[in-house]
Amino acid sequence: MPLRLFGLPCGWLESDLALFVAGARGAVRVPVPSWLVLHPRGAVVFDSGLHLDVQTDAAARLGDAAQWFRPAFRRGDELAAHLRGLDVDPDGVRWLVSSHLHFDHVGGNAQLPNAAWVVQRREWEAGCDPELRATNHFDPRDYDLGHARRLVDGEHDLFGDGAITCLPTHGHTPGHQSLRVALPGGDVVLTADACYLRRSLDELRLPPLVHDREAALASLQRLRALEAAGARLHFGHDPAPWANDPHAPREVR
Ligand SMILES: [Zn+2]
Repeated sequence: MPLRLFGLPCGWLESDLALFVAGARGAVRVPVPSWLVLHPRGAVVFDSGLHLDVQTDAAARLGDAAQWFRPAFRRGDELAAHLRGLDVDPDGVRWLVSSHLHFDHVGGNAQLPNAAWVVQRREWEAGCDPELRATNHFDPRDYDLGHARRLVDGEHDLFGDGAITCLPTHGHTPGHQSLRVALPGGDVVLTADACYLRRSLDELRLPPLVHDREAALASLQRLRALEAAGARLHFGHDPAPWANDPHAPREVR
């Protein structure tokens, strides 16, 4: 069975563009993508989107973040619904990889109760540290759910076959990681928040809130090098690929 990759738009966030690109003006509406990789050993999910409670009471669930982001997250946008639509049982998903611990990337972790959770060790440790948790705006209700953890250090080949590889792209948060998927049509790199938008990479522009600017810039450079070497990049919150149908899963070939 060849590897397959699907992008799942798990809601949208409206915000000021300046939160995504320092100094930019205007408003922006960005997707919250989750990703499904179908591998011969089973389904792998990369990032889980927003918590279901955001559909009913966003202000209570998001806390501080609600002042910056206005979610548009309707029934059927959640990860579990997208998976079922693709004949994948959320209870049967055995691997969940998280790029980092922000609310729009781990909020849906509860929807995959039986998955082993793959996260960079330094991200998990930041998530357990009260000070780093506060400065990075992590909410343990999203991720401290008792999943079996596979803590990884740096680059990590998930199944040892080169198909799915965690790539450290620290800086946005202490232990942020991206994911490389070796599709039959060539390598795809899911950057997550190491690179919000196409223009972030083209202009080497960071957002104003970054854990470590130097590391984040080095991660952008790493992503540039991967693209120059032939990888196709999919950015963390770029609306362009979803323009035609903002709520529909799409296969990346
Ligand atoms: Zn983030």
